[in-house]
Amino acid sequence: MNVYDSKRMEDILAPFGYKTTDAPEGADMVILNTCHIREKATDKVFSELGRIRPLKDKKAEQGGQMLIAVAGCVAQAEGDFIMERAPYVDFVFGPQTYHELPEMIANLTNAYGDNRRVNTEFPSESKFDFLPEEHGSQGVNAFLSIQEGCDKFCTFCVVPYTRGSEYSRTVQGIVDEAKRLVDNGALEICLLGQNVNAFHGEGPDGKIWGLGRLIQAIADIDGLERIRYTTSHPRDMDDELIETHAHPKLMPFLHLPVQSGSDRILKAMNRKHKADLYREVIEKLRKSRPDLAFSSDFIVAFPGETEEDFEDTMQLVRDVNYASAYSFKYSPRPGTPAANMQNLIRPDIADERLARLQGLINEQQLAFNQQSVGLTMPVLIERKGKREGQLSGRSPYFQSVNIQGNERLMDTIVNVKITEGFANSVTGDVVLQETISEAKA
Ligand code: SAH
Ligand code: SF4
Repeated sequence: MNVYDSKRMEDILAPFGYKTTDAPEGADMVILNTCHIREKATDKVFSELGRIRPLKDKKAEQGGQMLIAVAGCVAQAEGDFIMERAPYVDFVFGPQTYHELPEMIANLTNAYGDNRRVNTEFPSESKFDFLPEEHGSQGVNAFLSIQEGCDKFCTFCVVPYTRGSEYSRTVQGIVDEAKRLVDNGALEICLLGQNVNAFHGEGPDGKIWGLGRLIQAIADIDGLERIRYTTSHPRDMDDELIETHAHPKLMPFLHLPVQSGSDRILKAMNRKHKADLYREVIEKLRKSRPDLAFSSDFIVAFPGETEEDFEDTMQLVRDVNYASAYSFKYSPRPGTPAANMQNLIRPDIADERLARLQGLINEQQLAFNQQSVGLTMPVLIERKGKREGQLSGRSPYFQSVNIQGNERLMDTIVNVKITEGFANSVTGDVVLQETISEAKA
């Protein structure tokens, strides 16, 4: 979502003559867009700021001016602290106020005196009603924010505090943006939200639509080949969304975080469901789309986690059999209820559990990639690979696929026969000269 937000900041600033550059040296403004989800986020911001500061000094010596801003969730959570500790930072703004960027900049550059400002309000109006249309293309693979914030208050998580309460955009606004993205070359759109399947936006019929219905509307857009969404919550997987997974444009890969396989820990996390509910949801989804591949997020060593709790997580992983998954050691976040919990897990035990879980996940990931060998699948070629003549893209199952091929295949969907599976990628051979997207045109 930060990638999407940064893109939208570009859209707002373009009419004022700002363009993005690849390097901060000499820039008129540097915006550091930050994430607060896990440990050391603030430290990272200060070390990054320390690198940018000499560039600002240099520009001033040359008679110019470089504005430095900190945006995103670290700004939201620690805005005042950043201003105090880093006096060379000109302004700070949270994720819900970036539509006010032109005003914030005007305020800084026009008036006299000290105009440094922290803008971490949660305005009553939505930024989406004020953002201009997208400027330029996101390429074949586009992000689209449809929902933001969260009302679930898992005990470990900062999102409800930094992104604010749950908000859904209107269906019309989303569909219009999706059409423009497709007109500008997108073949795949990934719908974004902190809790994306809690989406409940107003439809053109005045009724509230869920994510399933929204996906069906977006799937009707000509020229759009692939839809994904992230990140979803097991409790918000309603029947309509589950059925929508049978739609050929909705890709057969779903990131569905569960965090833990232990009912006791799920309760302490305030996830408000049991591990078996997750198993049932997965089963229903697999009925709707038999080849659906899953990934998840796991937190190990949450306060009070016993060996037995951890074993429940391992068992859940064995039961589901993931195509990939992310796992993290629990990291106490200031201001969250879990940060006050006393029964912390010893770091050596946490490390050992994380290694065991990652070992199991890696095995499953390798097995998944090896099972693909012999299959032919459409791959969206997105970039050059690391080796000479190599191109790289994504399979429907979100695998990273490497092929040898002519650069003209870039930004198209080609059929690839998978020849080898590795831990983090697969390789294959192009089977058709004509690309699917060209064939349709
Ligand atoms: N809304 C999603 C997750 C958003 S946060 C959900 O409910 O599942 C992304 C991931 O970061 C989480 O799934 C979790 O695994 C991890 N995470 C969040 N807070 C964390 C913390 N305090 N310590 C460790 N991992 C955390
Ligand atoms: Fe955080 Fe996700 Fe829980 Fe919301 S549902 S509080 S975003 S982990």
